[in-house]
Amino acid sequence: MLQSVRALWEVLLVTLVAFSRALGAKPAPRSVSDNSGCLSWRVAVEANNVRAFRTVPDQCLAHVESYMSEGQYERDLEMVVEQIVWYSLGIVLGSDGLDAFVLDVDDTCISNRAYYRHKRFGGEPYDPVSFKKWALRGCCPAVPAILGLYKHLTHRGFKVFLLTGRDQELLDQATRENLNNQGFIGYERLILRGPEYRGQSAVAFKSAIRKRLAEEGYRIWGNIGDQWSDLLGDNHGDRTFKLPNPMYFVP
Ligand SMILES: [Mg+2]
Repeated sequence: MLQSVRALWEVLLVTLVAFSRALGAKPAPRSVSDNSGCLSWRVAVEANNVRAFRTVPDQCLAHVESYMSEGQYERDLEMVVEQIVWYSLGIVLGSDGLDAFVLDVDDTCISNRAYYRHKRFGGEPYDPVSFKKWALRGCCPAVPAILGLYKHLTHRGFKVFLLTGRDQELLDQATRENLNNQGFIGYERLILRGPEYRGQSAVAFKSAIRKRLAEEGYRIWGNIGDQWSDLLGDNHGDRTFKLPNPMYFVP
């Protein structure tokens, strides 16, 4: 009985989310044209066919700015989140509290779009000093669709692990405060890159952490991030979900 009430409640929740989205839908953006092959370039980035780019190609800067600023980015995020919600509703949770999701932090839970606006949305190469200054301010806004997803997952009883390549010694406190002030409350663990993982690729670092979680008994049902390096490697989870990000590439 309890289960059927819960199932009904979940269907209502999803319907409500879809309805509220329809009501709040933004007008269609200006067409994101592909005159210089930039739509193809962006799709190739998202599919992991274009890799290791230092900057967005000059001829695609206007395209990426338009994509990030005029609504398509949000619509793409919402499409992925919808898939994750449906996927999660099909999972029967165990009673041992070990059903887990792993989420990346930057441009997954919280957004650096305001920072990258000043870097021409990927037109300038990664600047670690300037990015750390930005991250220390702890003022990244939540990615709204992911915050909604986060609340759904924690409400359903999943343990949510937030896994980030941010430097633990420098950014632990600022990151915790930022997540907290944006509503990411009640996660199981925030894991930053400790000194023992310095110099390793994101794939190696994140694989090692997920392996540790699996050894602790957690079942990683879903793994969500804006970079392929969040999703590749060992113990990547039953399903991986790639969020859009055409602005930069993390190896
Ligand atoms: Mg990220």
